[in-house]
Amino acid sequence: MLRIAVVGSGPSGVYAAQALVQQTRVPDVQVQILDRLPCPYGLVRYGVAPDHEKIKSLQSSLRAVLEHERVGFLGHVEVGTGGLTPERLLELYHGVVYCVGAARDRALGVPGEELPGSFSATDFVSWYSAHPDAATRGFALDGESAVVIGVGNVAVDVTRILARGADELRTTDVPHAALGALAASGLRETHIVGRRGPSQAKFTTKELRELGSLPSAEIRVEQADLDLDPAYTGTAEVPLPAANRRNLEVVRGWAALPPQHRARRIHLRFFLRPVEILEAGGRVAGVRFERTVPDGEGGVRGTGAYEDIKAQLVLRAVGYRGVPLAGLPFDATTGTVPHTAGRVLRDGVPSPGEYVAGWIKRGPTGVIGTNRPCAKETVASLLDDAPALAARRVAEDPAAALRESGQRPVEWPGWLAIEEAESALGRTLGRRSVKIPDWPGLLEAALRGPGRPESDR
Ligand code: NAP
Repeated sequence: MLRIAVVGSGPSGVYAAQALVQQTRVPDVQVQILDRLPCPYGLVRYGVAPDHEKIKSLQSSLRAVLEHERVGFLGHVEVGTGGLTPERLLELYHGVVYCVGAARDRALGVPGEELPGSFSATDFVSWYSAHPDAATRGFALDGESAVVIGVGNVAVDVTRILARGADELRTTDVPHAALGALAASGLRETHIVGRRGPSQAKFTTKELRELGSLPSAEIRVEQADLDLDPAYTGTAEVPLPAANRRNLEVVRGWAALPPQHRARRIHLRFFLRPVEILEAGGRVAGVRFERTVPDGEGGVRGTGAYEDIKAQLVLRAVGYRGVPLAGLPFDATTGTVPHTAGRVLRDGVPSPGEYVAGWIKRGPTGVIGTNRPCAKETVASLLDDAPALAARRVAEDPAAALRESGQRPVEWPGWLAIEEAESALGRTLGRRSVKIPDWPGLLEAALRGPGRPESDR
C-alpha cells in the first residue's frame, strides 16, 4: 500500500488524487487531501466568480473524487506551520504532492497603490467569494467610476461582478453582505485597461464575449486604441495566434457598436500603462496612465503623453504569485517550486517522495482544465518512483498522528455540516445556499457536524 498526502484541495490537488486512485499500475494507493481551510475545492469555491455557475458546478465532479473510498479529506490543517513541516509529512506519508497554488497577488509598484480605495482584484474576489481570510471585510461601492488594471480573466471577472449589480447575483451563493453592498452601489462606469494592445490581451474569448452580453451594461471600445495595434491595422510582421485573433475580432465588433444607453458602461481601453494612482481627500481619485505604443518586439514603450481616468475604486488584476511554503524549495524569480516532471528538486536533485502540481509547479496560468494533464504528469513520475516510496517506513495512521500532534482536522462529515449550515443560512435569507464568510462561523458549523469526536467539540 502507498499512502500519499496531497496538500491543497483545489483543482490541481483533486486531479492529482483522481489520477492516483484511478490508475492501475500501482494497486491500493490511499490518498489524504490536506487543506488549510475547512472547505475543499480551492479556487473553484474561492476564485471562480459566483455567476459562473457552470464552472462552479465542477465542484460535483471534484466532490466525487473526494468521496472516493480511497480518498480522505483533512481540512483545517496548515502545512508549513505549527511543526507540520514537509519533513514531518514525509514521516507520515510515502509521498507528498504539493498543490498549493499561487496565493498572492502581484503589485503594480506605482505611487498611490496603498491609498484607500485601491485594492488587488484578489481582495475583491476574496470578498465576494466569502473567503474567510478576505483582507477587506467591506467594499464601499459608493463612487461612480472604477478602474480595473490588467486585461486577463480576473480583470474580466471583477468587471462583470461590478457591472452586473445585485439583482443579477441574488440567485448565486455570493455572501449576503457583498450582495447588500452591490445593491447599494452607485458605480456606473468601469474602465478595464491594458498596457498593450487588444491582440495581446490575456483573456479567453469566451470570457471576453460575456462582457458584451450583460443585461444592464454596455461595452465601449475606442477606435484610437485599436488603431495602435499592428494586428488590427494589418501591419504586424508575425501572424497572430488563433485565440488572440478571436479576441481582436470581438473587440473590433464592439468598436463598431452605436451607444446603447444602458444603466452601466464598461470601457475597454488599451495601450495605457499605469504610472500613478491619483489622490484627493486622502483616497483614490483616479489613475494616471502613460500612452504606450508597440515597440516592434511584442512589448510597448511610453510616449510621454498621459491620460487620467477618474475613479473612486481601483482594482489591480495583474496576475498572481506563488508564495514559499516553509521547508520547501522555492524559486523567487518564477514564484514556483523547482521540479522536473513534478519531482521537487532540492539543490537540483529530485527529493524522494516530494512532488508538485498546479500553479505552484508551472506558475499562475491556464484554465481549470489545464491542471488535469499537469497533475497527471506529476502522478506518472510518482508512480515511476513507487517501489522506492513503498520501501520508506511511515506512520500506520497519519490522520491519527496529526491529531496526536495537536491538529484538529475538519474531515468530510465536518465539511458536509458546513454545506448544510450554508443551505440553512440561504433558507433563512430567502436565497439558495449562502456562503459563511468567517473562520468562527465555518469552524462552528463543522464542529456541529455528525461523526465529530466529542473531544473535538
Ligand atoms: P493574467 O492572465 O496573467 O493577466 C494579467 C494581466 O495583467 C495582463 O493583461 C498583463 O499585461 C497585465 N499586467 C501585468 N503586470 C502589469 C503592470 N505592471 N501594469 C499593467 N498591466 C499589467 O492573470 P489573471 O487575470 O490574474 O489570471 C490568472 C490565470 O487565471 C489565467 O490563466 C486566467 O486565464 C485564469 N483565470 C481563468 C478564469 C476563467 O477561466 N473564467 C477566471 C479567472 C482566472 P501583459 O500581458 O502586458 O503582461
